Amino acid sequence: VMGQMMSQPLSVSSIIRFAARHYGSSEIVSRRIEPDLPALHRYTYRDCEARARRLAQALQDRGVAMGERVGTLAWNGYRHLELYYGVSGSGAVLHTINPRLHPEQIAYIVNHAEDQYLFFDLTFLPLVEGIAAHCPTVKGFVLMSDRAHMPATTRIANLLCYEELIEAADGAYTWPDFDENAAASLCYTSGTTGNPKGALYSHRSTVLHAYASAMPNVLNVSAIDTVLPVVPMFHVNAWGLPYSGLLSGAKIVFPGAALDGKSLYELFEEEGVTFSAGVPTVWLGLINYALQNGLQFSTFRRTVIGGSACPPAMMDTLIDKFDVQVIHGWGMTEMSPLGTTGGLLAKHRNLPREEQRKILQKQGHAIYGVDMKIVDDDGVELPWDGHSFGHLLVKGPWIVASYFRDEGGDVLQDGWFPTGDVATIDPDGFMQITDRSKDVIKSGGEWIGSIDLENIAVSHPAVLQAACIGVAHPKWDERPLLLVVRRPGAEVTREELLGFFEGKIAKFWMPDDVVFVDSLPIGGTGKIQKNKLREQYRAHRLP
Ligand code: ADP
Repeated sequence: VMGQMMSQPLSVSSIIRFAARHYGSSEIVSRRIEPDLPALHRYTYRDCEARARRLAQALQDRGVAMGERVGTLAWNGYRHLELYYGVSGSGAVLHTINPRLHPEQIAYIVNHAEDQYLFFDLTFLPLVEGIAAHCPTVKGFVLMSDRAHMPATTRIANLLCYEELIEAADGAYTWPDFDENAAASLCYTSGTTGNPKGALYSHRSTVLHAYASAMPNVLNVSAIDTVLPVVPMFHVNAWGLPYSGLLSGAKIVFPGAALDGKSLYELFEEEGVTFSAGVPTVWLGLINYALQNGLQFSTFRRTVIGGSACPPAMMDTLIDKFDVQVIHGWGMTEMSPLGTTGGLLAKHRNLPREEQRKILQKQGHAIYGVDMKIVDDDGVELPWDGHSFGHLLVKGPWIVASYFRDEGGDVLQDGWFPTGDVATIDPDGFMQITDRSKDVIKSGGEWIGSIDLENIAVSHPAVLQAACIGVAHPKWDERPLLLVVRRPGAEVTREELLGFFEGKIAKFWMPDDVVFVDSLPIGGTGKIQKNKLREQYRAHRLP
């Protein structure tokens, strides 16, 4: 016997239709890119839907067919949001591109995706001028601004104006229905090794991920929130917030290009931001600005930190000094991206604060929809005892089954996706990442967790940032080398820092050397590039 409920495809356009109809007056505030215009643009969900619909119509009028790719090079802002809904809603595929990648890599991605149109913010005009001639599939390059901001001369042959496209469409367009398994958006992995590979999200996977991620155990987004995604819309759909935020009815605030501590702080305060999300490197800037100026947040109470491990010291500062709850999140491009989020169980309610903190520091619990397991080198499943660590594998309806154009061939192992992370899982189901497989330091056949060592280093008051890498060693194969950026004006010696590790780790985990550096290389998604460091310090002579 079959159920007798209505069957409706889970589509990206259903989110904006719902949002405009049921939370029509909810606000979307964006920091503008155009330097000569008032700093903030504001309108409502209703306005956004109307413009996204006209954008979809404009794409249809220009012959963009179902499944064809439309690229974006843009910051978090209202026009980018219109593209999220207009492109996917029309049945085409929104291809968000990370503008921080090397221009050659961007051109490679545009060509690999065969983008038909490329939309870009004013900031990226020089970048687009440089690559336009190398992107033969692109029929039009659309500057995301108005006529007044169109450049007079340009090296782009087929340059179009976003506002003119919108104006040319009369709005007589209804969102089409199609198979929920159709592709909705495309995001390439950073490709630290080999060519970037595309994760092709479907409408169904996007909606399910948005539903699940709004839940209280996950991001807990609701209509009373003001959400500021610092995580970029050009990478893994800003952790789904452009979808989960709107289906929840929340006020949305987009920071545009101004991601420094001061600009963020001011926007948080002016717009009453309650909830945000970002990688640890952006929180460093915001926290330091607030600390240096003796500021507190008046409305900001919750944030998700993920993309790389949230150092416990950062979590402590946010909770203890600013009263901001930290949700540690883990995921990856291939997972849309959310896989786990941190939090407590009912039985942890009365634990001492320090013990609660240890639980919150883990990457957390699987989100309903995601299953996970850890296995040894032979693929044998390991116990959930909180100690055994192994390769982390995942499955679920918003996790890739294969890459776009089958790049990389079969990626699944017995139906599970290998994440490339090494983790433990405790008896309560809390997962903790010990390392990335390729970042693991192997000393005398034993693994040393680089994340643990980094977390300890940054809990030292004189340390701003730290990275731990393995360096070749004649006897032990590899030994840990710690690279440290000191806080401005702070002093600490190699010996003092190593002394700080005493008693906190197993003896053989002790870094063999410390090198003080001015900065660490940060990649396009805000993470420390350990592969670059390994390259750079390959020949480092350990004492
Ligand atoms: P993204 O760029 O979306 O973060 P990537 O695929 O480039 O996705 O990176 C995903 C990887 O980032 C994960 O496999 C993991 O190694 C790391 N990562 C993400 N979140 C965390 C976290 N909370 N703690 C530790 N590592 C994390």
